[in-house]
Amino acid sequence: MLKLPALLGLVAVLLGHSAPVWIQRSNYVMGTELTFAVGAADRGTGLLATEAGLQVVHRLERVLSDWDPESELSRLNQSDPKAGSVMSGELTSLLGLVLEWTRKTRGAFDPGLGSLEDAWDVRGSGRVPSRGNLDSALAISGLLRFEIDTIARRFTRPDTGSWIDAGGFGKGAALNEAVRALQANGAEAGILNFGGQIAVFGDTTVVVDVARPDARLSSALSVHIHNLSVSTSSQSERFIEVDGVRYGHILDPRTGSPVLPWGSVTVVHPDPTIADILSTALFVMGPADGMEWLQGQGIAALFQVRSGDHFQNIYTREFSHLLDHPPIISGE
Ligand code: AMP
Ligand code: MG
Repeated sequence: MLKLPALLGLVAVLLGHSAPVWIQRSNYVMGTELTFAVGAADRGTGLLATEAGLQVVHRLERVLSDWDPESELSRLNQSDPKAGSVMSGELTSLLGLVLEWTRKTRGAFDPGLGSLEDAWDVRGSGRVPSRGNLDSALAISGLLRFEIDTIARRFTRPDTGSWIDAGGFGKGAALNEAVRALQANGAEAGILNFGGQIAVFGDTTVVVDVARPDARLSSALSVHIHNLSVSTSSQSERFIEVDGVRYGHILDPRTGSPVLPWGSVTVVHPDPTIADILSTALFVMGPADGMEWLQGQGIAALFQVRSGDHFQNIYTREFSHLLDHPPIISGE
């Protein structure tokens, strides 16, 4: 059993490792830390693969970044609602996927919520909007109001105040691209950590500690991860504070208001983009509606729900199969 250098304290132990050489690399990209641990036949191949992996993430940043006014998404977000714009093939397929999951989650996940973020000033010092302002923001919010034509690649926003925020799926999409680039460039196995979202590929099993919602460095439980991605959403790390009240960064697009900080959701899925989308969606749904929505979907998900001064773990059968120790209770 080989212990890997700490990857943000989340990845604990590498169980199986066929690759002869492992190299690790960290970079700051998309506003957060991206760490690769890559197994390859030799050091040169491993280094080339990490370089290719990093490049695709930088490329995706130029497509999705909402901090960069020149990114493709930023330009679409500023486009004339009367004229519309043409999207690249890459952004078209990503927004097509995101639109599909907005429908499937019945709007719990909805990146077309920029006007709501403006109403709450979540990117600034924060404010509680008046009822009238919130209603106006809701009236121009929601991906279904945008024209996203995946055949003609046309994009039109409904209003000058409407925009798309990639914060709920961008990291997952980047991990997806990175894993593909690493594999295409000779990596045999890899463990990626992008701001806390993990992706593991190849002939490698990793024990990942899932943090408690209120204490990032203490482990609630551990899961065995093999060719899977682990994404967690909570309100504990990013928030605004208005008149002494904290409001988290995850909004319920259906009501327009921040979701109360009830705990956290962890989703384990083979596709990192879907893991990222679903952890945000299930956080909005909450444990009761979330468990109901998950019925029969075959998805591994864990809800850590605050109950007094501790947390109750509720999880699907698929999640229990990943646990380090046999489950005593199951949420299903
Ligand atoms: P995550 O940390 O993956 O759960 O994503 C949270 C981020 O997604 C927030 O910081 C916002 O940028 C964005 N976001 C907030 N609420 C939603 C939502 N309901 N659907 C999609 N994206 C959201
Ligand atoms: Mg997410």
